[in-house]
Amino acid sequence: MKFATRAIHVGQEAEPVTGATIVPIFQTSTYTQEGIGQHKGYEYARTGNPTRTALEACLASLENAKYGLCFASGSAASATVMNLLSAGDHVICADDVYGGTYRLFELVFTRYGLQYSWVDMTNPENVAKAIRPNTKMLWIETPTNPLLSVVNIAAVAEIGRKHKCLTVVDNTFASPYLQQPLDLGADIVVHSTTKYIGGHSDVVGGAILTNDEQAYTKLKYHQNAVGGVPGPHDCWLVMRGVKTLALRMEAHCANAMKIAKWLQSNTSVSRVIYPGLSNHKQHDLARRQMRGFGGMVSFELKGGEAAARKVAGQTKLFSLAESLGGVESLIGHPATMTHASMPKEQREARGLTGGLLRLSVGIEDADDLIGDLEAAFAMVESRKAVGV
Ligand SMILES: *Cc1c(COP(=O)(O)O)cnc(C)c1O
Repeated sequence: MKFATRAIHVGQEAEPVTGATIVPIFQTSTYTQEGIGQHKGYEYARTGNPTRTALEACLASLENAKYGLCFASGSAASATVMNLLSAGDHVICADDVYGGTYRLFELVFTRYGLQYSWVDMTNPENVAKAIRPNTKMLWIETPTNPLLSVVNIAAVAEIGRKHKCLTVVDNTFASPYLQQPLDLGADIVVHSTTKYIGGHSDVVGGAILTNDEQAYTKLKYHQNAVGGVPGPHDCWLVMRGVKTLALRMEAHCANAMKIAKWLQSNTSVSRVIYPGLSNHKQHDLARRQMRGFGGMVSFELKGGEAAARKVAGQTKLFSLAESLGGVESLIGHPATMTHASMPKEQREARGLTGGLLRLSVGIEDADDLIGDLEAAFAMVESRKAVGV
């Protein structure tokens, strides 16, 4: 079966008791046993729930994985991957990861004796150079947020294999429709299903997918032991969202490309970052590694931070909000929103300036979205002209 079919059918057979076509929300914490030790595979809902089982099977299939595990958030999924390690182990991470991932690793797990090195993974040689005798894991995120750098998954996974390290990819930004890291040699994929997989900005969730039986057994043990599991209603919402992932990603990609090109031709804009543009630093790699270039576009205004702040407050269709990956378009100002906790010098050194805006391009009509940006730009220009 191809991707779009698997999204709708895998794990989602008709329910055997009633024939319900859609997987029910099994809102129960426990399961009645016929006799001591005689049950149908479910004993207690932290350990397992049929709605969650269905979602786990579906997401595993979409990442070409044998095994899937779902969590209450992407962060809970990332934390459970760290539970594979022990005090004294070292992890090499992409230096441009999601802010919450940086916080979890650097401010929480270092207290338990894990060590982290943050390297620019757009050059895989930096990963090879950072390997230590105690390195156990490589953590990739690609494309990154908000600068949309692309990391060569196959090249980094090759280094991981050579040094017996697990390679983990946070595939949230691309979604399994655009990029399948396990096929490129990665060992584990992590998702915040809050974003494209859920797709409707109405649920928080996470997932881990893998073909590595040994890793899966340990991860499943920790899913139950630590307990960051999603409720059945949240699993149901994610499953409802994922059915249209293929359609939505096609629309996100088409809209984002159209908007990136329009921005590139606009005189108020000094820089556009989108992996689909031929001037993107890793455009060729993105073409090889991804089926499409995604729905995220970042750009910088000539008017700097003052102009960026005004535009972000003027759009009507693009809501000023954190998060991404929903059907509705969002606009964000990374310097004061998602990356406010990063020191200014560090931000600017990376090119994350005050004039940078990030778009999560939704699936509305592209012309309406462009019109919304155009009106916001015009408003800022006219205020400048009258000195407001
Ligand atoms: C949002 C996000 C996370 C964290 O997921 P939550 O569901 O918010 O806990 C991790 N990685 C990336 C790339 C994200 O965008």
